[in-house]
Order: sequence, then C-alpha cells, then structure tokens
Amino acid sequence: MGTDRPDLGLYPPGRLELAAAAARDAGLAALLLTPGPDLRYLTGYDAHQLERLTCLAVPAAPGGGAPFLVVPRLELPAAQASPAGGLGLEIIPWEETDDPYALVAARLGLAGGRVGLSDRMWALMVLGLRDALPGTGQALASTALRELRVSKTPAEIAALRAAGEAIDRVHARVPGWLRAGRTERQVAADIADAIIEEGHSRVDFTIVGSGPNAASPHHEVSDRKLGRGDAVVVDIGGTMPSGYCSDCTRTYVIGTPPPEFAAYYRVLQDAQQAACAAVRPGVSAEAVDAAAREPITAAGYGDYFVHRTGHGIGLECHEDPYIVSGNAEPLRPGMAFSIEPGIYPGPHGARIEDIVVCTEQGCERLNQASRELVCVDDR
Ligand code: ZN
Ligand code: ZN
Ligand code: ZN
Repeated sequence: MGTDRPDLGLYPPGRLELAAAAARDAGLAALLLTPGPDLRYLTGYDAHQLERLTCLAVPAAPGGGAPFLVVPRLELPAAQASPAGGLGLEIIPWEETDDPYALVAARLGLAGGRVGLSDRMWALMVLGLRDALPGTGQALASTALRELRVSKTPAEIAALRAAGEAIDRVHARVPGWLRAGRTERQVAADIADAIIEEGHSRVDFTIVGSGPNAASPHHEVSDRKLGRGDAVVVDIGGTMPSGYCSDCTRTYVIGTPPPEFAAYYRVLQDAQQAACAAVRPGVSAEAVDAAAREPITAAGYGDYFVHRTGHGIGLECHEDPYIVSGNAEPLRPGMAFSIEPGIYPGPHGARIEDIVVCTEQGCERLNQASRELVCVDDR
C-alpha cells in the first residue's frame, strides 16, 4: 500500500467539485466511492480494501450538501494523514457496533434518484448500500468520472513517465537473467525483486512466456525451463508510490531465433511503430488499432494478432481508453495508453509494448527500452 504523502500536484484540491458537477451532468444524485482508484483520484487517499466500510460520498444534486468520508474508527488516523486530510473534507469515523451503511444513507438524505458506485466496489458494499438506500437506483460512477480520469494532467503524465523509466530499468536487466536451464518462475522472481528495487511500491504482474508459452498472450509463468532458441515474451508492470502504473513488454531470444521468427518480429516492429505514428489528437482509438493491424495483416500474420492494440493506463493498469476496433472515440491530448501488438503463430510468438501519451503534436513514448530484437548470448 505504501505511505500516503500529500502530493497536491498529483492530487490537486478541486476534484471533488469537478466530480460533483460531472455526476450532476450524468444525472446522478451522488457518487459513493469505496477504496480504489476513483477514491484515490479524487482525494489522494490510498485506502485499504476492507470488509469494514470506507465510503466517500459526493452529493451532486443542488443543495445536496458537502462531500464527506465515512471511515472505520481504526482507519481514521490514516485517512487524516493522507492528502484527503488536507481537503477540508469532513471525515466521519464509525464505531465497531455502528451500521456504517445507515450512517451514509442518513447523511445523504436522498429522496430518490440514482447513485454512482465505484466500478470496482465489492458486492458486499453494493448490496449494503442498495439496502440502506431503498428508493435509489444504482449506476457506475465511471459514467461521471471517466471523462475526468481519461485526460491526464501534466503531473499525472510525469508520474507515468517515472513509472516508464522504472520499468525500462528493469528491462535493461532482464537479459542477465535469461539463461537456458532456468525456469520462467525463477526469472519472474528476479524481475519481481527488480520491479521493487527500481522504485515501484508493488509488483502487479510478471509475465515470462518462453518457447510455446510465448504464443499465449496472457500466459503468466510456469516451471518450464528456458531453452536455447526460445523466444521469451516478458510483459511486466507495477505500481509506483505515486499510485501510477507501469506496463512494458519486450521479447527476447536465447541464442538463435526459431525459424521464421526474425521475419515476423520485423513486421511487429513496423506495426508497433505505425501505431505510435498514427497517434495524434482527433484520430480515433480504432484507427490506431487499424494502423497496428494493417502491416501485420499485409504480411499474412493477421490471424495471429488476437487481441486489441492497447488499453489506457493511469491509477489502473487497464482503464479507458481502449485501443480497439469499434471504439470511435477521438484521442485527446493527455490520454495515456499502451500500444502492444503481438504475433503468435506458435510454437512461439512476440509482443512489443510501450506506454504512450497523446500530445498536442502527436505521440510521446514513455518507454525507451530498445525495441530491436535482443538475442541473449547463452554461451
Ligand atoms: Zn494485458
Ligand atoms: Zn503489458
Ligand atoms: Zn498492457
């Protein structure tokens, strides 16, 4: 979880007012946010997910009152010490024998309407709030908060850039751990240690897919031993103390690449480059996906590119905007997302992934680790 240090650049005051206005525009009477990315985005409070209710209530109706944060008594010092303690927000502790759902409902005093619940709220709390607010409908808070969170501020982009630099430093060390005879799990353990050493506060995933496992895009790790001639897809990420995430994939080869691999790796490099070059304000998310797909399809590997081109990233590793066919949403400056085409013909495969930001001019890559094929010398 890390410590919450007040960071008014990353978590500026004023977001609660923006959220209330966005909720009003979305036709919601209030937002109710339990621990997770929405709560952290609005207050800077990196609260623990517990069975005890922590809930930020943001009334949205005119005259609905000020936002308030309900926390278990034992979480009160942590809440006050977090940036939320500096927002002038009323923090209301509840005692072990209180009913915190009734407390939220009584304070809100809603006669009806719909409340927006954080998308990742536990069912325990969704149903608890439903029972405590009988005349009230429920909707996803993202209907209101999506537009705020999808456009990153310069401070958020700086945090994502720092995350990118940290994961680049991990990738720079990966070739040293790739040796025939070591297992994917051993390599992943080295990577996990390095993710923390290079500045993250949490390891989110360590995908090490070697040989035939490289052809399975979301393979995690196994006890398979690396062998000479293996391609190894290494897709890794973590969360920084800022709350912002890293996510970067490189594909390595141990010794000499398998037959055909070098040819389609070249196609993949071109595809990833083409998608990055397509990024600029006004271009649709699906056009970036098409830019990645076109050279892969033209080279005859279209059927082996089996996933979308990318996903947004910020306080969550996967968030809006999704870079996928069917998403006609125009890109805007400040949107941050991955560009990660892959080709998985089997019994091997490859993926290249960078996080990029849409800028006024076009595209800034937040990962700089070399995208040239790295063949690890195993002698
Ligand atoms: Zn993924
Ligand atoms: Zn990834
Ligand atoms: Zn990704």
